[in-house]
Amino acid sequence: MTTQTTSKLTRDTIEIPYRHVTTHFIDGEWRESQGQDTIEVTDPATNTIWGSVPVGNEKDVNAAVEAAHAAFTTGPWSKTTPSERAAIMLRIADEIEKRATELSLTNTLENGSPVAETSGAASNAASIFRYFATLAPELEADDVRPFPNGKGESLVRKDPIGVCALIAPWNFPINLMVTKLAPALLAGCTVVMKPASPTPLSFRIIVDALTAAGVPAGVVNYVTGPGRMGDLMVRHPKVAKVAFTGSTPVGRHIAAACGELLRPVTLELGGKSSAIVMEDANLDDMSAKLIRSCMRNTGQTCYISTRILAPASRYDEVVDMVTETIAAAPQGDPLDPGTVFGPSANHSQYKSVLEHLESAKQQGARFTTGGQPAQLDAKLAEGLFIQPTVLADVTPDMRVAREEIFGPVITVLKYEGLDDAIRLANNTEFGLGGIVFGSDQDEALEVAEAMNTGSVGINFFASNHAAPFGGRNDSGLGVEYGPEGLAAYLSYKSIHRD
Ligand code: NAP
Ligand code: MG
Repeated sequence: MTTQTTSKLTRDTIEIPYRHVTTHFIDGEWRESQGQDTIEVTDPATNTIWGSVPVGNEKDVNAAVEAAHAAFTTGPWSKTTPSERAAIMLRIADEIEKRATELSLTNTLENGSPVAETSGAASNAASIFRYFATLAPELEADDVRPFPNGKGESLVRKDPIGVCALIAPWNFPINLMVTKLAPALLAGCTVVMKPASPTPLSFRIIVDALTAAGVPAGVVNYVTGPGRMGDLMVRHPKVAKVAFTGSTPVGRHIAAACGELLRPVTLELGGKSSAIVMEDANLDDMSAKLIRSCMRNTGQTCYISTRILAPASRYDEVVDMVTETIAAAPQGDPLDPGTVFGPSANHSQYKSVLEHLESAKQQGARFTTGGQPAQLDAKLAEGLFIQPTVLADVTPDMRVAREEIFGPVITVLKYEGLDDAIRLANNTEFGLGGIVFGSDQDEALEVAEAMNTGSVGINFFASNHAAPFGGRNDSGLGVEYGPEGLAAYLSYKSIHRD
């Protein structure tokens, strides 16, 4: 069952700085695009176009990379100390927080993420900058390593790697760029960024925050346009490193280009993560965590555990709890603070989710709630809403058990014994997230250790800016966050002396 809610905000009168724009940010200023086409920005809750950005061309990409390269080689940024850069990063964090409301509303209008989600985007982005700023002392500390034979020593230098191409997806358009930008800036790199086409406006507000905080011209550049512009960035001879978050097929394509060019690349890709429910799990507790850990952002979060693996002995109980929890969460206008489930973020995602639901029907899954496009009130009648859906009696061979759905659809599978649970959890091409719900902490930790994945939570899931986050297998290459994430933006040099 879905609840209809009405927002007090009127879409046309919302005060946000950017709606229709014709510029890219290059060399410290908003410059007219050299490409003539535009990309329209659609509010998926109403299916109406409310903004547009330019489609850049090769000239725009070249100008952006040249500006970043000039800033890297001759500008002050890469020559300042990490502490000086960290001081600016703290100012960036403050400037972002000042813009929290406009960031939240722009993001919500772009991709339908509920304001309950996007209202945290600015503080989260600020905290990522503040976290990486804490790594400055580590970066500038002398790192002298004696030769093991005692004769001589090596000075280990951590140079910025150079111009970085940063490419983000549409599900968290602010923070999936900030996770790349913050370590790049601390390292002393300069960047060219491209957002996903459905969500090109919110990050412009971050660019303004960067300027207000005093980031010098050329250090950050921001261009909009389709995937082929990303491809030009990835292959540009003056780009030294690529960081990408998005789908596995595009990630593979980028990795191939970077392989040919011997260009370092980090890839955060798709997932199909499992939540193993132990025999002793507290289902009330699990219910309280379920949406955040398994259906965050209307199911459009890479690491969420959308495959619930329930013990045969408690299968019906788990299905009932999951069904009640999902059915009770309000779906409606993402501008309403009470909304938990919004629309699908864009047309292609909407279509793909409905196709997955059709496959589930054909392959014999049991729908315990949802399963259809949702009909909401008149204002939202054209919106891309799909009812939050729970699929029971899902077997591992079904498409919905194997493929990332990226929508409000949760599956419940049955296991017989813990070995079977672990085998099911690891029987995927991905390896990004995962959860163990259980009361016995030692046993839960053992199961977490047996899961072949980059991150796993015990009784909840969250990403920790201080701990590496990355995917195994088809979920990616390398990690973000933590000192390990910073290392991707550094180039090491050892200077040996007697
Ligand atoms: P996508 O289609 O792969 O696009 C991601 C970004 O790459 C967009 O900016 C896109 O631009 C650009 N792009 C497309 N083709 C390109 C190419 N040939 N070369 C360079 N860049 C190119 O992914 P999406 O549909 O936006 O996002 C959903 C996917 O992201 C899901 O699979 C999800 O799991 C994954 N994701 C992963 C993580 C993680 O941390 N592991 C986090 C969030 C999302 P256009 O939009 O203009 O095409
Ligand atoms: Mg896409």
